[in-house]
Amino acid sequence: MKCPKCDAQMTGVAALNGKSVDRCDRCHGLFVSRDVLHLLERDWFLWPESETHNVDSGDPAVGERLDEIGKIDCPGCGAAMTPISVPDQPHIWLEQCPACEGVFFDAGELTDLRYHTMADWARDFLKGPREEADIKSRTQA
Ligand SMILES: [Zn+2]
Ligand SMILES: [Zn+2]
Repeated sequence: MKCPKCDAQMTGVAALNGKSVDRCDRCHGLFVSRDVLHLLERDWFLWPESETHNVDSGDPAVGERLDEIGKIDCPGCGAAMTPISVPDQPHIWLEQCPACEGVFFDAGELTDLRYHTMADWARDFLKGPREEADIKSRTQA
């Protein structure tokens, strides 16, 4: 798997319950699949540390810089990802894949969210992309 932001190799790192997330070797961005988002919803406070190490180990300064790269393709399935903002955290933009529903976090974003937001936020993701409804209301207006 190649990092959609900096094109370096992504390596699977153990997260929780035998699941892993993919982390970029260079910028330490994280790709979290839909399955793992489910775990994140349930065991929010255990994230992003696993039993043995901190999954979100990247430099937040690097993450912030890369946060400005908005147009990326999903490292999991290649679909164009949709930038989404986080409720109450307007400075954080994430990218979600409309096809496989994986989410890309820049380095530090997962940690940042963990201290600011609760599981409600993860639950929002699992409802899936809201774009279709948005488009409908826009074309009807
Ligand atoms: Zn990267
Ligand atoms: Zn995808």
